[in-house]
Amino acid sequence: MSNLIKAIRGMNDILPTQTSVWQHLESVLRDTLASYCYNEIRMPIVEKTQLFARAVGASTDIVEKEMYTFDDRNDDSLSLRPEMTAGCVRAGIEHGLLYNQEQRLWYMGSLFRYERPQKGRYRQFHQMGAEVFGLSGPDIDAELILMTARIWKKLGIDHLIRLEINSLGNAEARQNYRNVLVDYFLANKELLDDDSLRRLELNPLRILDSKNPDMQELIQAAPKLTEHLDEGSATHFSSLCQRLESAGIEYQINTRLVRGLDYYNRTVFEWVTEALGSQGAVCGGGRYDGLVEQLGGKTTPGVGFAMGLERLIALLTDLDEQQGLLGEVDLYIARMGEKAEKKSLLLAEDLRNIFPGLKILTHCGTGNFKKQLKKADKSGAEICLILGDDELSKNKVTLKFLREHKEQIQISIDQLADWLKNN
Ligand code: ATP
Ligand code: MG
Repeated sequence: MSNLIKAIRGMNDILPTQTSVWQHLESVLRDTLASYCYNEIRMPIVEKTQLFARAVGASTDIVEKEMYTFDDRNDDSLSLRPEMTAGCVRAGIEHGLLYNQEQRLWYMGSLFRYERPQKGRYRQFHQMGAEVFGLSGPDIDAELILMTARIWKKLGIDHLIRLEINSLGNAEARQNYRNVLVDYFLANKELLDDDSLRRLELNPLRILDSKNPDMQELIQAAPKLTEHLDEGSATHFSSLCQRLESAGIEYQINTRLVRGLDYYNRTVFEWVTEALGSQGAVCGGGRYDGLVEQLGGKTTPGVGFAMGLERLIALLTDLDEQQGLLGEVDLYIARMGEKAEKKSLLLAEDLRNIFPGLKILTHCGTGNFKKQLKKADKSGAEICLILGDDELSKNKVTLKFLREHKEQIQISIDQLADWLKNN
């Protein structure tokens, strides 16, 4: 069939064999965030293009090349969200959640970036992120990092991920550093690639973020931001480092870590892995004390992170041999005869009322008895409950044990709930 419609390149279906790993990841994330008293916020997937241009920065890769932007029927320029901090801040200002308040928030959802699809890099992908407003000290930066470290531990992937941190200083220090950096790159202009030449004028710090292998030597030798920090930022940074050390969190200071978005100041961090090839960033974050004001709100400090769920899933499924198994079944209900067929759905409903956690799969459709038993076996259920018209007339059901070597038994329907409770 040549006219088959397929999914868009870089936008993936998450299939039934994969969703159990996703659900596991999502519930670990939800539970952990709840245990730190963070509250969920949900924003629209589409925002005005201007929001991202202003927040993320007009000369960033994201805004320059990666956004899905379109005019709606009203000729407003809209974009599918490429990140969620901008929308979160927008919502916070709009609903008066930020000024003179403390907010610890989290969100989870799909994002869109027009990138070259490859392993760990997609055009629709998912993030879980957290944002904290109204707190400016290194203590909250440390809390966010400790929380992510706890998540890796809970997921059993902590041995695969390491932490890199850096400080970007305040705006003035960054401006000074920017000048130093421009001088350095100008003196080595012949070594710059086209992207970097362009960034030299617009956003020279972003040259440090270049992934071009030919540029790495030049970048390694560049002047370091940490040597040009303002005093307040230097103290903030050393205090964060100290907190991480006393909590037993290992880290490396990566002076080239600037992150791909313009809104950061002071602390930036990234959790990286060597296990996923060049798509090694699993979680990134930092402080953005100027963003709320930049988006029209009253000055409010902010700090947050976002983690890429596809990359975490890739780490989890590398470990998890359970992959490929469908959701578990406890009880399969097979039935023979017209009355039994009608009764089986009702019986299943009764059992679900009594045992809300029990996973019951009822046979539906056609299939002789042998076929039903085969399906029951394949489902992975412990027990097959068999209803026949004959047995029903005696108000009885048969329990067949699919995993244990035990004779099947017949019990009365009235005793079924008690039997299940005791077994
Ligand atoms: P990278 O350096 O890999 O491009 P990034 O710095 O652009 O990542 P962020 O904007 O900080 O990424 O987003 C946070 C996280 O979201 C990343 O650490 C990564 O795990 C994930 N992520 C970013 N872009 C993609 C993508 N296109 N597909 C899948 N996951 C992504
Ligand atoms: Mg990127």
